Amino acid sequence: MPVSRPNEVLVIGSSNTDLVFTTERLPAPGETILGEDFIIAQGGKGANQAVAAARAGAGVSFVSCVGDDAFGKQSVASVEAEGINTEYVSVISGQASGVAAILVDLGGENTIVVAPGANRWLTPDLVEKAEPAFTDAAVCLVQLECPVESVQRAVEMAREHHIPVILNPAPAAVLPSGIFEQVYLITPNETETEHLVGIRPDTKEKTVEAGRLLIQKGVKHVIITLGAQGAMLVNDTHEVQIPAPRVTATDTTAAGDAFNGALAAALSAGSELEDAIRLANSAGALAVTRQGAQPSLPYLNEILKLT
Ligand code: ADP
Repeated sequence: MPVSRPNEVLVIGSSNTDLVFTTERLPAPGETILGEDFIIAQGGKGANQAVAAARAGAGVSFVSCVGDDAFGKQSVASVEAEGINTEYVSVISGQASGVAAILVDLGGENTIVVAPGANRWLTPDLVEKAEPAFTDAAVCLVQLECPVESVQRAVEMAREHHIPVILNPAPAAVLPSGIFEQVYLITPNETETEHLVGIRPDTKEKTVEAGRLLIQKGVKHVIITLGAQGAMLVNDTHEVQIPAPRVTATDTTAAGDAFNGALAAALSAGSELEDAIRLANSAGALAVTRQGAQPSLPYLNEILKLT
């Protein structure tokens, strides 16, 4: 993809802190149990994808909201430590930072409650305030963990600045129908694909059919991520499945975030779509070999070695 402002990715989305409890078994309603381990980790799809893009070699500006509490300070410090521009991360006074309480049992089963907190205050207004970042960016990357009207505004502004938008439609949500025509690339996983078009992409034929339905909605390129099977690219000229490297998966957290961040970084550097997908597959594959969200996101040298 030819780009005029190489290597700059603008990520607009959520910041969360993951509070992860490991327990022998998940508690029943009304029950209190003693857990095993507890860790605090940085998360949120926006922040994860910003970090993934930075580690994959892009310059990243991040538009997000945190509360005026210790979790928010830690979230900002940790993305800053990755060299990400946090000028457009707002601290919302009187609001808690986004938090996810995650219970994982010894079998790997989990239960999660997300309190979005300050992420709800990422308004279209704050997206507009980040206009200078649109001027500098080659690619804009958005997800659905913040208000959909802000995603819509980001998509419009990216269009005004002639920047291609990658929409990672996660978590699954209802989208305004007009948004599809303004998006360069959409990257649903299997669940999100089913949510968007009502077809579970569990065979090659059904994956292509689902991709075609998204193209009919007006998106230029569709990449359906297929876990260990890699990703399927569908557009006007292609129906091609690009396999992921074979790895031993230990924790699939943030595979999609690694994939999307690396994809945006590669496209911002001018890569062709299929090459960018190969790189993104390697990033996703590396992420599943490691524990946690942000700690598992790979660096460019590791990604290149596997690609
Ligand atoms: P999500 O994490 O959003 O559910 P996927 O499970 O489709 O998304 O994973 C995203 C990408 O991560 C895949 O397209 C693939 O590139 C990579 N990936 C995920 N799981 C594996 C795996 N078991 N082996 C290799 N690559 C994987």
